Amino acid sequence: MAAQILVVEDEIAIQELIALNVRQAGHRPTLAADAEEGLARVQQSLPDLILLDWMLPGMSGIDFLRRLRANGRTQAIPVIMLTARAEEQDKLLGLEHGADDYITKPFSTRELNARIKAVLRRRAPQMTEDRVEFGDLVLDPSTHRISANGADIAVGPTEFKLLHFFMTHPERVYSRTQILDQVWGDHVFIEERTVDVHIRRLRSALNATGHDRLLQTVRGSGYRFTRVA
Ligand code: CA
Repeated sequence: MAAQILVVEDEIAIQELIALNVRQAGHRPTLAADAEEGLARVQQSLPDLILLDWMLPGMSGIDFLRRLRANGRTQAIPVIMLTARAEEQDKLLGLEHGADDYITKPFSTRELNARIKAVLRRRAPQMTEDRVEFGDLVLDPSTHRISANGADIAVGPTEFKLLHFFMTHPERVYSRTQILDQVWGDHVFIEERTVDVHIRRLRSALNATGHDRLLQTVRGSGYRFTRVA
């Protein structure tokens, strides 16, 4: 599944090169030339991953990272720091402030892609093509199929993304706003009621095999996907 990847990098040549690689790896890049622009982009639409340059004009990469981690809405976004420095000290500082990984410039396309893949797998499994199983319920992103007890379950693309998100994030309650952020990537122009509509459709598709009961409404909070229903 295509991940939205925000690239915060002031050197335009490097920014373009990264954007090209990201696109070739099947993801959607959004670009920012400094931290302020990066924060504005994050407000518009929550990225699945951020590639963050360390040395930026104005606000530094580390301050940008601090701000992300201090805000409930953005604190869990995976971040890979990019830097020209190879010193162990800086690497540790970045990791201490919550960076998920670290790449030293210059890096190869292969290294960049491998690190993006590894961080997404660890932090945003709904963005990978890995097959997810939940008892006898199986979701396969590479073939875009869902089956239960071997029988296919047909759902629309949004319901597929919803179920993929829930199956990779079980046992936790998510509010409608969080679900919009995670599944739609945007919570500004879509009404929260939209989530309810798609949850209803998903439940109705899962109803035939009884798996709809795994998707629970938590009064006043949101929704939870659980193994114990
Ligand atoms: Ca720079």
